[in-house]
Amino acid sequence: MKKFNCPSCGAEAEFSSNFSVYAVCKYCSSMIVRHDLDVESIGTMAALPEDMSPLQIGTEGYYQGQHFSLVGRMKMGWEDGSWNEWFMATDDGRKGWLAEAQGFYAICFETEAPPLDFAVKAIKQQKQDVSFIGSAHRLNNQKLNVVDSKKASCLGSEGELPLLARQGRLVVSVDLLGAYGEFASVEIETGKLRAYVGRYVDWKEMRCSNIRTFDGW
Ligand SMILES: [Zn+2]
Repeated sequence: MKKFNCPSCGAEAEFSSNFSVYAVCKYCSSMIVRHDLDVESIGTMAALPEDMSPLQIGTEGYYQGQHFSLVGRMKMGWEDGSWNEWFMATDDGRKGWLAEAQGFYAICFETEAPPLDFAVKAIKQQKQDVSFIGSAHRLNNQKLNVVDSKKASCLGSEGELPLLARQGRLVVSVDLLGAYGEFASVEIETGKLRAYVGRYVDWKEMRCSNIRTFDGW
């Protein structure tokens, strides 16, 4: 855990995950980047669009016996909707994400990215001139098939994150599924690939605490 003061408003804040390099100040919405010795403000993040997620920064839960807490969120949008990518701090020090879309949840950990031709095919798929959906790939020793590939952009972020999530950051997002609930996603951003492999999880099995409450519920 690393404490610092927000360069804009002076409020005390902290990076609770060693992976975090980027944070949004919860008091003044400054976007803050962590350098070796200091922190720098690089602008202001607009308010996140409202949604009905039961999750929030500070929600805790379990995945395969391991405790996690949610420390950041990136909200992603595409032409037909939006989803949340929650960055988790885990006790075993892995870089994990909880993806949340329409009441479905998947927990993934960053893994070695597939070869670059994967990105070429995914981007060609956006122009509908190659059969990429359905193709089989091996990621982190799991056999997965591409089920979806779409253009998405960052609608906003909050909390701390391991990457710079400016509003409007454009990616191609590819989802892959295995035969037994394995889930992976590959995110392509200007020639760089990031891959995450994990599985779908039930709401109940996460045993979440400190969830969001809604007025009147
Ligand atoms: Zn601040």
